Amino acid sequence: MAGQNTRVSLWYFLALLVILLLAQQYFVTPRQESINYSDFRKLVELKGVDDLVISTDKIEGRLLPEGVAYLSKARKDPNLAQKLKEQFKKEPMFSTVRLEDPDLIKLLEKQGIKYQAVLEKTWITSLLAWVLPMLLLVAIWIYFFRKIGTGAGGLMSVGKSKAKLYVETETKVTFADVAGVEEAEEELKEIIEFLKTPAKFQALGGNIPKGVLVVGPPGTGKTLLARAVAGEAGVPFLSLSGSDFVEMFVGVGAARVRDLFAQAQEKAPCIIFIDELDAVGKARGLSPMSGPEERENTLNQLLSEMDGFDTRKGVIIMAATNRPEILDPALIRPGRFDRHVLVDRPSLKGREDILKIHTRKVKLSPEVNLNTLAARTPGMVGADLANIVNEAALLAARKDKTAVEMDDFEEAIDRVVAGLEKRNRLMNPREKEIVAYHETGHALVAEALPTTDPVHRVSIIPRGIGALGYTMQLPTEDRYLMTRTELEDRMAVMLGGRAAEEVHFQEISTGAQNDLYRATDIARSMIREYGMSEKLGPITFERERRPLFLESIMSPSTKDYSETTAQEIDQEVSHLVERAHRRAREILEQRRETLEQVAQVLLEKEVIEGDELRQFLNNTANQPPSSE
Ligand code: ADP
Ligand code: MG
Ligand code: ZN
Repeated sequence: MAGQNTRVSLWYFLALLVILLLAQQYFVTPRQESINYSDFRKLVELKGVDDLVISTDKIEGRLLPEGVAYLSKARKDPNLAQKLKEQFKKEPMFSTVRLEDPDLIKLLEKQGIKYQAVLEKTWITSLLAWVLPMLLLVAIWIYFFRKIGTGAGGLMSVGKSKAKLYVETETKVTFADVAGVEEAEEELKEIIEFLKTPAKFQALGGNIPKGVLVVGPPGTGKTLLARAVAGEAGVPFLSLSGSDFVEMFVGVGAARVRDLFAQAQEKAPCIIFIDELDAVGKARGLSPMSGPEERENTLNQLLSEMDGFDTRKGVIIMAATNRPEILDPALIRPGRFDRHVLVDRPSLKGREDILKIHTRKVKLSPEVNLNTLAARTPGMVGADLANIVNEAALLAARKDKTAVEMDDFEEAIDRVVAGLEKRNRLMNPREKEIVAYHETGHALVAEALPTTDPVHRVSIIPRGIGALGYTMQLPTEDRYLMTRTELEDRMAVMLGGRAAEEVHFQEISTGAQNDLYRATDIARSMIREYGMSEKLGPITFERERRPLFLESIMSPSTKDYSETTAQEIDQEVSHLVERAHRRAREILEQRRETLEQVAQVLLEKEVIEGDELRQFLNNTANQPPSSE
C-alpha cells in the first residue's frame, strides 16, 4: 500500500514542476512580437529598435515607435500599433531569429543602437537540459525499484506477505450463502466445531485434521465455501493464492509461507486458506518452465511448515484446487491435506437453491419460477448461475422494468449458454437423454447381478473432461481374488450402458468407448493371464503378471505362441465380450419398463442415490428374476 502512495505523490511532484515551468515562461519571460530578419534589418536601418540582446540563435530588443509604424505599414496592418500597445502596456518587445550576418555589428555601431551579447544559458534551459532528464531517470529508477520491491514483498522486508495476504477478521459469508454443496458442508461441520472451541478438543486429545483440500470444477464455490467455514466459526480468514507464492526471487515464496504461518499462530484460532494450490503444489519435476527450483523451495517450505504445525492451537489449513491430479503426492499424505472435500456441480435441487440465494436481493416478478430455471441449466455451476441472475437483472433494467421477469432470465440463460457452449461444457437435451439411458443401463445391470458391488450413485451431471455421467459402485469389502463369474458380471455391467442405448434408441453412440475398453481389457486378461478359457485351457500367455486390472500399457511382448493360437485368443476374447453384452441386453430387455422409468427420473433429477434406486426397484419388482 505504501508503494501506491509514493507513486501517486511522485506524479504530483512532476505535474507541479511542469506547471511551474509553464508559469515561469508565461510570467517571467516577456511576450515578444516575432518579426522576420529582413524586417529587422530594415528596422535597424530606420533606427526603429534599441537595446538589443544578441544570443547564439536569436536577437531580442525593444521596438521604438518608428519601428512599430514601419511594421504596421510593412504588414499592411494599421491596427498593429494599437495592438502592440495594448499587449505590452509599455514599450513593445520583439525577437527574431539570428542569421549569419557579419555586417550587422558594424551597422549597429553606425546607427548608435545599443546592443549586448549573451551566452544562452538561462536557468530554465539548464534545467531542461540537465535536471529534467535526471529527474526522469530517477523517476524511472524508483518505479522499477518499487516494482521489484513489491514483487519481493518490499525490498526492505523480503517475504513479508502483507501486500497480498488477505486477512479478514470477520468474513460475512456463512453457509446460508452457499447452496447445493450439502455434503461438503456436512463434512466441514466438524472443522467448524473445532475452530469454535479448540479447547474442548484439546482436552480430549482428539485427532483434528490439519489440512482440508477442497476439490471441484471451477466456479462451484470452493473459495466461497472456505470463507463460509471461517464465517460460521467466527474466526479470522487468512487467504493467499497459490500463484502469489511463485515469485521471481529465489527464497521469497518460501519466506512468504513462513510469514503466513507465523501470522496464523498469532491469530489462532483461524483458517489459513491457500487458493489454487496447484500453482505451488504441482508435482515436482512436472513443469520444465518458470523456475522449478523456486516452486520446489516454496513447496518444501509449505510441507515442512505443515509438519511442524501444532493443530491444537486451533489453526486449520484449507486449500482449493480444480486439478487435484497434478498435485504433488507429498501434499496429500496423512498429516497434510489428508481430508478431501468434493464440491461437485450442483444437481437440479442445488441449482434451484443457488438461484434462490442469488435472487434474494433481486426484485422478481411473481411469475418467475426458479425450479423451471434450474431445470433449464443442467451442468452449470454456481458462478454461472450467479452470472445469469446478474445478467437478467441488467436486461430488465435496460428495458425499464420494475421487476425481473421470466423473459429476462430466459434471455440471460441463452447468453450464458452461448458463452459456455464455446467452452463445450453443456449437453444438448438429446445427448442428455442418451446419457441418462446409458447410465441407467449400467445401474440396472449392476443391481440385477448378484456378485457386483451395489450402486452408490447414478449421475448425469457432466464431471470433468470426457465423462458425461457416471454410475458409481461402492465395493463392500476389499478384494484380492475374483472369480470368473464376478469378472463376467463386471463386464456385463460395463456393457450395460451400451445395451441400454440399443434397447431404447435402437441406436448406439460413441459414449461407450471407455466401457468397451475396460470390458475388453478384462476379457483379455481372463484369457491371456488367468487361463479362464474353456477352449484354450488353463494356460497363461503372459510372461509377467500384471497387477490386477491396473491398466498397463500393453507392451509389444514377444509372442511365444503360434499365429493360430493368437487367433484363438482373439476369438475367445470377443466371445467373452459378446456374451457379457448379450447378458446385459437380456437383463435390460426384461426390465424395459424399469429402464424407462428410472431413466426419466434421472433425466429430471440428474442424480439418483443408490438407496433411492433400490427402493424404486423394490416397488416395481414384479418382474422375473434375471436369467442367470
Ligand atoms: P471456485 O472457487 O470454486 O472457482 P468461487 O467460490 O470463486 O468458485 O465462486 C464464484 C462465485 O460464484 C461465488 O462468489 C458465488 O457468487 C457463486 N457461487 C459459486 N458456487 C456457489 C454456490 N454453491 N452457492 C452460491 N453461490 C455460488
Ligand atoms: Mg476459487
Ligand atoms: Zn458407460
